Amino acid sequence: MSENKIPYKIYLSEDEMPKAWYNLRADMKNKPAPLLNPATLQPMTAQELEGVFCSELVKQELDDTTPFFEIPQEIRDFYKMYRPSPLVRAYCLEEKLQTPAKIYYKFEGNNTSGSHKLNSAIAQAYYAKHQGLKGVTTETGAGQWGTALSMACGYLGLDCRVYMVKCSYEQKPFRREVMRTYGASVTPSPSETTAVGRKILQEHPGTTGSLGCAISEAVEVATSTPGYRYVLGSVLNQVVLHQSIIGLEAKTALDKYGVKPDIIIGCAGGGSNLGGLIAPFMGEKLRGEADYRFIAVEPASCPSLTRGKYAYDFCDTGAVCPLAKMYTLGSGFIPSANHAGGLRYHGMSSTLSQLYHDGYMEAVSVEQTQVFAAAEAFARVEGILPAPESSHAIRVAIDEALKCKETGEEKTILFGLTGTGYFDLYAYQKYNDGQMSDYIPSDEDIAASLSQLPRVD
Ligand SMILES: *Cc1c(COP(=O)(O)O)cnc(C)c1O
Repeated sequence: MSENKIPYKIYLSEDEMPKAWYNLRADMKNKPAPLLNPATLQPMTAQELEGVFCSELVKQELDDTTPFFEIPQEIRDFYKMYRPSPLVRAYCLEEKLQTPAKIYYKFEGNNTSGSHKLNSAIAQAYYAKHQGLKGVTTETGAGQWGTALSMACGYLGLDCRVYMVKCSYEQKPFRREVMRTYGASVTPSPSETTAVGRKILQEHPGTTGSLGCAISEAVEVATSTPGYRYVLGSVLNQVVLHQSIIGLEAKTALDKYGVKPDIIIGCAGGGSNLGGLIAPFMGEKLRGEADYRFIAVEPASCPSLTRGKYAYDFCDTGAVCPLAKMYTLGSGFIPSANHAGGLRYHGMSSTLSQLYHDGYMEAVSVEQTQVFAAAEAFARVEGILPAPESSHAIRVAIDEALKCKETGEEKTILFGLTGTGYFDLYAYQKYNDGQMSDYIPSDEDIAASLSQLPRVD
């Protein structure tokens, strides 16, 4: 089929929606390193993990060999509310940039949570429900994950307790109200409601919190309340597995038109959307069937892949979680105020960390004023108001398209547009008023934080 027949939006039918998630780890020669018990430094057993997570999710977490997991019918039915998501050919952006590159984006913002996080939220809530649990606890930074989980729990009738990073709680009251509307209880973190919260408040009076603190609180509540488990919206293998639906749909849509991307770009906070988007393409690369360039984009203010260390670290500030081997800035790293709240995590998925370490993927960091300039340019021609997180991918997609303009190469670029920015208008206001700053941590800041890494030999 010739190029000009490709529509602006490629929609799949419900029947074309994937019926199984793809487990990228099955095709990795070097598997991601196992989670370790912080006390014994031995790999966490399923039994130990089941104190924190739902049993079925523990199986998914530990399974490095099964390539496909069937998506239960009930989850597929929920997905149909907002999936398959469109794959858009960015003709207008190409025109504006005057680039010979062909740009596609997979848009995950078409649901009330405003992001891809709902893909994993419904899966995690479903397994909790089927285990007969009463409820789940979690943390949320920017609020997208908390909203997604509230929606999934509201649908299934599960209790949902969200610890929300305090600065977001204060800056984004509307997100909080969306969560409450779906039935969740929302507590600003750090809080006085947990032992770890009280300890953090004592050590850092007046702190506006971090994802790492909120995780510690949510885990404490889950492990000390009967009938509750903890769920996490990123970083874990299981989340990357659920998010593979993004890449599987994108690949089906592109295959229909015989399009093969040269470059695949995604923003990386904990790595779930990127891991999901690239999954089937990376699988082909790992099996030697095709080659692609993969680019992870992170904020210059929280550069775990580009400036962090590949080491075992705590997943949370309170050090109550297992240790994960990942690119990390240190669990005590509290990034400066950056408006891409979903990208302010100190570590990176161990699956993506291993792939990056083995040279299968590249990473770049970008500064936030440049990110917002890209967001503005994109919004003006493509219509969608992008989330600040997603705009990191837009920035690099534009940069790659501009390189094609210089060289005359007609590369095909695919990027993940993870969500919308309606709750980020405070950040847009800063940008519009010319008051946005770029904060980049110094080498000393990072070294100080990395000096606190746990010793694991
Ligand atoms: C949470 C979030 C991200 C980053 O999370 P990943 O796990 O790295 O995908 C990116 N974009 C949006 C809109 C988000 O809500």
